[in-house]
Amino acid sequence: MPLRCRGTGVTQPDVNGGGPVNSGPGHAVNGGPAGTRAVVLGASVAGLLAARVLADHVDEVIIVEGDDVTGSAHGRHRGGAAQGRHLHALMERGRQILEELFPGLTAELAAGGVPAAETLVGTRWYFDGARVAPASTGLTSVLASRPVLEAALRARTLARPGARLLPGVRAVGLAPAGTTRVAGVRIRPLAGDAPARVLAADLVVDATGRGTRGPEWLEELGLARPRADSVDVDLAYASRTYRRRPGELGGDFGVIISTLPGRRGGGAVAQEGDRWIVTLAGMLGDHPPVDPDGYDRFAASLPAGDIHRLIQGAQPLDDPVRYRFRTSRWLRYDRLRPGADGFLAIGDALCAFNPLYAQGMTVAAQQALALRDCLQSAATGVSGAAGLAGAARLDGLARRYFAAAAGPTSRAWSIATDSDLRYREIPGRRGLRTRVINAYVPRVQAATRADPVLARALLRVVNLVEPSSTLLAPAVLARTVRFGLRRIRTLPPNNENG
Ligand SMILES: Cc1cc2nc3c(=O)[nH]c(=O)nc-3n(C[C@H](O)[C@H](O)[C@H](O)COP(=O)(O)OP(=O)(O)OC[C@H]3O[C@@H](n4cnc5c(N)ncnc54)[C@H](O)[C@@H]3O)c2cc1C
Repeated sequence: MPLRCRGTGVTQPDVNGGGPVNSGPGHAVNGGPAGTRAVVLGASVAGLLAARVLADHVDEVIIVEGDDVTGSAHGRHRGGAAQGRHLHALMERGRQILEELFPGLTAELAAGGVPAAETLVGTRWYFDGARVAPASTGLTSVLASRPVLEAALRARTLARPGARLLPGVRAVGLAPAGTTRVAGVRIRPLAGDAPARVLAADLVVDATGRGTRGPEWLEELGLARPRADSVDVDLAYASRTYRRRPGELGGDFGVIISTLPGRRGGGAVAQEGDRWIVTLAGMLGDHPPVDPDGYDRFAASLPAGDIHRLIQGAQPLDDPVRYRFRTSRWLRYDRLRPGADGFLAIGDALCAFNPLYAQGMTVAAQQALALRDCLQSAATGVSGAAGLAGAARLDGLARRYFAAAAGPTSRAWSIATDSDLRYREIPGRRGLRTRVINAYVPRVQAATRADPVLARALLRVVNLVEPSSTLLAPAVLARTVRFGLRRIRTLPPNNENG
């Protein structure tokens, strides 16, 4: 159910000649004195969060989006964010940040019919085929479909003074100033055959997602491109929606079944509009089919039967659709020397995670906070130094931002890639840290089936609310060891890994 649009903030630009988007250097804004302008490429989750943060620090933020996301397209599935047809879980840390940037968002979503539940109280999780003990986690699962969440973020971002959207316009390259600075973006409307024009900017933010051409665009200007860290996972999702009736899934709002130790997993989650979104997932080429019979058979093969039982009796509302994800990739702008000034990347354009860990939106939100903090310290001055004014605040921002964003990105990247490296078939370096984690964390996971304290601790790490190091706290270690000893005493040896 699309949420109400609070403000429009949509510009139908004269991209073909003159008009606000075509202003040259100094780019006077709204007829006033020349102001600072940021241009954000991509109006999906990361781009909207970047724009929200920037709107507090520059005079004008223009969001360039290839898709039409206005009018009847608002709150609907769209080609530029095709992953939106699949289950999107918002981790608690992400929800907290969205709430900080847009106070009242959780309540607004609930008022629009989005279900919410306490994680592990109203939702079930399975790790390594065993159900995690129900426990109070203090974590809220807000179960909005991806288009509805994005529509709410877009409406609130465009309600900020100075924020504007150019829908149906593609970025096709960058514009240079001198040899180390990006000074704008080349854009072209999707409709018609108008040539590309330059939209001048003091700052360009690449939020074009995993298909980003940012590195190529930098190279075209003679600037260095970042190298990529990557892990090949060859994952595919197949998703289908079903009518949701009261009492299904024992009255719970969702179930998540992890792929490990096999290759197959899935999730079924309640959504607004009395629907279930059911996503089946297969790693390393073991992909779920999209024909209805094959889809049902794949669901029946999961390590827990909850999803298959649910879809047996439920009425499908559409056909299954597929999304293939081959590689997790982190573009290491933080290591680029010298980097380009005036150019940032955020969200999947910076780091695209294996979606099984549901981290992408939350890490984008953490990166947006890193951007906000860099902008704030430039505005107020650090260590008693006077703050900077206008465009001077943006000098050196890219280097500071990439360093700050590397912190949360790296923490989430380690959780996801260490876990993926449990599969022997996935190539990658398994240093001592990874080997220790992959020996220890499955033991914590195994113990969560019987220990609500461990269940709470683990889910808070998974939700990026607590750092992974909390799993090494003496109390957690002791409970994990105690569970392991109890298993050895109570299970016959040949069941130890069963
Ligand atoms: C199958 C799948 C499932 C996922 N599940 C989860 C989940 O459960 N939880 C979670 O947190 N994350 C999940 N993610 C990740 C999540 O979708 C992203 O991390 C999140 O949406 C942030 O993405 P983004 O805004 O950086 O990019 P995207 O959402 O990919 O958006 C990029 C935007 O840029 C626009 N664009 C692209 N090129 C241009 C151009 N040249 N000019 C103008 N506009 C352009 C596109 O139209 C689009 O609007 C999943 C991802 C996939 C693939």
